[in-house]
Amino acid sequence: MKYQRLRNEMVTKQIIARGISDPRVLSAMRTVPRHLFVSEAMMDQAYGDFPLPISAGQTISQPYIVALMTEALQLTGSERVLEVGTGSGYQAAVLAELVKQVYSIEIIEPLGQRARDLLNKLDYDNIETRIGDGYYGWEEHAPFDAIVVTAAASHVPPPLIEQLKPGGRMVIPVGGRFQVQYLLLVEKAMAGEIVTRQITAVRFVPLTGEH
Ligand code: SAM
Repeated sequence: MKYQRLRNEMVTKQIIARGISDPRVLSAMRTVPRHLFVSEAMMDQAYGDFPLPISAGQTISQPYIVALMTEALQLTGSERVLEVGTGSGYQAAVLAELVKQVYSIEIIEPLGQRARDLLNKLDYDNIETRIGDGYYGWEEHAPFDAIVVTAAASHVPPPLIEQLKPGGRMVIPVGGRFQVQYLLLVEKAMAGEIVTRQITAVRFVPLTGEH
């Protein structure tokens, strides 16, 4: 099938070629039908080496960035993961292939609603979504083994650090709209100590909201 071939090529040429090697992540990237998460007019571009517009001025991230962020979380299968910025629902679907339960929050209602409908249609029954400001996390389901934020924040939101389990990992782009943004890996040690390191420079849409 055409899209399966494009997916395999995407994994080989964009993702393995840039050093992603976690076999579970590669398998998830080969499985999730990315073309269904973009508009019909863009389906043939869905496996290209770039982000694509979805709607409401938002984007579905470049495949390599999705793989990089996912690999950095070092997921093994038993985790409960929070995603901030559901967008198209694609990253949530990739995570759902890899973990026990995904919770995903989107601030723009029509986007969140559309993603929820699509994920239901695709039978992802281990993803729960809601509309809201992800800066504050999702208290009811905390703490999380891992957190991924897919919009750029000016700082790491304290409620997300709070809601990360000791031993947990968070990946988040940090930096202003017109500044260089860095993808950060934030690790919470078992004793609660926070260690942060930069993974790479990135460009994301901003984390919005009232905070
Ligand atoms: N993960 C998405 C995907 O796979 O399609 C890509 C997300 S896009 C780069 C970032 C998303 O974060 C947008 O849909 C945007 O509306 C959302 N967003 C921005 N600020 C937010 C906030 N405070 N809480 C929740 N979502 C937010």
